[in-house]
Amino acid sequence: MKLLIMGPPGAGKGTQAEVMVKELNLTHISTGDMFRAAIKEGTEMGRKAKEYMDQGALVPDEVVVGMVKERLSKPDCDSFLLDGFPRTLDQAQALDATLTEMGIKLDGVVNIAVPREKLMARLTGRRVCKGCGASYHVIFNLPQVEGKCNSCDGELYQRSDDNEVAVGNRLDVYEAQTQPLIDYYNEQGLLFNINGDQEIKNVLVDILAALKK
Ligand SMILES: [Zn+2]
Repeated sequence: MKLLIMGPPGAGKGTQAEVMVKELNLTHISTGDMFRAAIKEGTEMGRKAKEYMDQGALVPDEVVVGMVKERLSKPDCDSFLLDGFPRTLDQAQALDATLTEMGIKLDGVVNIAVPREKLMARLTGRRVCKGCGASYHVIFNLPQVEGKCNSCDGELYQRSDDNEVAVGNRLDVYEAQTQPLIDYYNEQGLLFNINGDQEIKNVLVDILAALKK
């Protein structure tokens, strides 16, 4: 099975990808890991990517697609889950061209959907200890005493990049970039919208049911 997974920040995409990879016996291709491996192995595309990164520049789409191509050419990619790429419509079209060239057809695109207000609550709920830097969450990981760190009794605070404005901006950017991508895969009949606002194991049940159809 050849799949792609997408989801906004806070949707639990990473967790779900790990579960899917195990359950469906897929090779997990996350762009971050792939980057690091290509650079470490010194592949042609890895060297190109490193040149851009050393200059502090963004790695262009054709280099990233080149790296995906190198990775998908390896023998462990009969079945795979591509995670973290593509992020834009341009990248999706470039990926499609490469897949066609390689004779690979995607079987589906899993989109983990969570209502925006739930994402806001998840992403703005983090609290960090001023003393030791320990991380808490007002929904998922409460301290024993409100506002105080369990281990050092330090004061808990909200980092500025976790506030509503910053998180809202992050979600806006994601939506603006990704909506065209969602439409694109939907038009191709490849999109599976999965409710991510439920327990992790139930999300997996929904994914497996959708893929069976
Ligand atoms: Zn602390």
